[in-house]
Amino acid sequence: MLKTHTCGELRVDHIGQTVTLAGWVNRRRDQGGLIFIDLRDRWGITQTVADQNNIAAHAVMEELRNEYVVQVKGRVRARPAGSENPKLATGSIEVEALEVTLLNPAKTPPFYINEEAAVDETLRLKYRYLDLRRERMRNNLVLRHKITQFIRNYLDGQGFIEVETPILFKTTPEGARDYLVPSRVHPGKFYALPQSPQQLKQLLQVAGVEKYFQIARCFRDEDQRGDRQPEFTQLDMEMSYVRRDDVMNLVEGLITALVESVSDKKILQKPWPRFTYQEAMERFGDDKFDLRYGMELQNVTELAKGSGYKIFDEAEQVKAIVVSGGASYSRKQIDEMTEFAKSFGAKGLAWAAPGGAEGARSSFGKFVGEDRLKAMMEKIGAKDGDLALFVADKATVVAGVLSRMRAELAARLDLADPNVLAFCWVIEFPLFSWSEEEQRWDPNHHLFTSPLPQDIPLLDADPGKARGAQYDMVCNNYEVAGGSIRIHDRKLQEKVFQLIGLPFEVAQERFGHMLEAFEFGTPPHGGIAPGIDRLAMLLAGEPNIREVIAFPKSQQASDLMAGAPSPVEPKQLKELHIAIEG
Ligand code: ASP
Repeated sequence: MLKTHTCGELRVDHIGQTVTLAGWVNRRRDQGGLIFIDLRDRWGITQTVADQNNIAAHAVMEELRNEYVVQVKGRVRARPAGSENPKLATGSIEVEALEVTLLNPAKTPPFYINEEAAVDETLRLKYRYLDLRRERMRNNLVLRHKITQFIRNYLDGQGFIEVETPILFKTTPEGARDYLVPSRVHPGKFYALPQSPQQLKQLLQVAGVEKYFQIARCFRDEDQRGDRQPEFTQLDMEMSYVRRDDVMNLVEGLITALVESVSDKKILQKPWPRFTYQEAMERFGDDKFDLRYGMELQNVTELAKGSGYKIFDEAEQVKAIVVSGGASYSRKQIDEMTEFAKSFGAKGLAWAAPGGAEGARSSFGKFVGEDRLKAMMEKIGAKDGDLALFVADKATVVAGVLSRMRAELAARLDLADPNVLAFCWVIEFPLFSWSEEEQRWDPNHHLFTSPLPQDIPLLDADPGKARGAQYDMVCNNYEVAGGSIRIHDRKLQEKVFQLIGLPFEVAQERFGHMLEAFEFGTPPHGGIAPGIDRLAMLLAGEPNIREVIAFPKSQQASDLMAGAPSPVEPKQLKELHIAIEG
C-alpha cells in the first residue's frame, strides 16, 4: 500500500511513530518557514507540516495545490499547545513531513470540494466524481453501504437468502412504461428491463426458496416528475406461508433495528401505528402523510351544508384544517394560501379566525350566520388565535388540496422535527380503482395482489368495494414501501385479469408462465419492497434521492457526466434490425 494509515486514524497514541499517508490536498497554508497541508481521504483529514529545514519536503509542499494527490511520509507528533483542533478527530496531532511525493497534480476543480457551498446541480452531476469527494456526499455513500450491509446481515439471520434475478426479462407490470432492449438474435423482439422482480420473486416461492430477498435494481420509464429516477433500488422481499401481519411485523422489526443501528434519528411511535386506507384519506387526505404534526383534516360537511352559503351548499364535501396561532396571518398570507389551494384545483379557500388581535374575522361568517360559524369552529376545535381553512368541492379535490396545504403549512411553520421518523402502515386499500379514461378497473397495487379473503365474493358483486391484502409503509410524507399477499390460485388470478380488462390471450401471452406455475403446487406467499433510495434519503436527512445515489440521472433522465443516452453507430442499429424514423 502507498499508505500505512488513513487520514482519519492517527491519535495521541501514535505520537512518535513513522507513518505514510496519502490523499488529496484539502487545504494548504504557507507560513513561510512552515507549510501546512491538510491531507484528506475517505476517512478524514490529517494536518501535515513541512519545516524549511527539510529542504526537499518543503520544496515539494510549496508546489502543492488543492486536490493534488500526495503521499507524505512523516513522524506523528503532538500539536503545539493551543493549536489543537477539537473539530477534527485527528486534531490533537500532526505529521511532521520527512518525505513528500506528488502522485498526481489536479486542475482547479469547478467548485469547492473542501467546503459545503451551494453548487448548481448540473455542474455537480457533470463532475459527480468530484462532487462525491465532498464530505456530505461521502457520508451519504457510507451510510448507504451501512444500510445494505445491515439489511443483508439481519435477513441472513432470519433465514433469508439473496437471489439475483435477471435484468433482461419480460415486462413486469408496476404501472409504468418499460425500458426495452432490442434483441439481436431475435429480430423484432425485445427484452424489458424489470420494473421490479415481482414475477420472479413469486416464482422463487413456487421454487421453494420460502424466504427471498434481493437488493434489486428496478427500471421504470416514467416522466421524471418530482423525486423519481429511471432506475432505483429496492429491498425486494418475498416469503411463503405468511399472512399480512407476518410480513409487516418482520419488516417493522428490520427497519426499526436498521434506523437505530445506522442513524441517530428517533422513531416517533413504536410499534408503528396502522391506518386503514379509508381512515388515512379521512384524516390526511392522502395515503401518504406526515405524523410529526397535527392539522388533520376535519369534516364539516353536515354543518356547512344548508347554511345558505352557496359554495358550501353546492359542494360534495367541506373539510377544514386548523392552523394553531394562524389568526395573526395577514390578508396577504391568506391570499397566498388561496393561490396555493387554487393551484391544486380548488375554486377558492374559505377561512375563519374565531378571535385574535383583530377580533373575529372570516370570509364567510356573514353568509352562514354567527351561530353556525360558532358551531363549525367548535366542531373542528378552532380556538381564539387559530385560523381555520376550508375547502368545499368534490371529495377528491378537497383531499388533494388540503393534504398538500397541510404539508405546505407544516413546512412554513417548521412543525416537522427533522430528527424524527414517523413510520406507520396503511392497510385495506381498495383492490381496484375505476379508470374513467379506459373504462375498466385498474389494480391499485399490481395485478398479483390478492383481495382480502372475506372480500373475494365482492369481485363478482361489487369490485370497487373489494379491499386488497396490500400494505404500504409510510414515513414523513413518503411511501417507503408497498407490498401485498399475492394471489396463488390460477382461477382467482384469471378472474383479476378479466376484471382489469386483460383479454385471455394477452394474459396468456404475458403471464402464461405465472398461471402455469400456479398449477404446480404454489405455497401461499406475500412480500414487500422498501425503496432503498428513499430510506437512505430519510436517514441522511437529504431533500431528494439524487443525494444518496452515486450516479443519478438528471430530471430529464440523462447522465450528464457520461452523456447518456447517446447516439449509436448505424452498424449497431442494423445488427439490432432497427431503423430510426425521421
Ligand atoms: N413489486 C412491488 C413494487 O415494486 C412490491 C411488492 O409488491 O412486493 O412496488
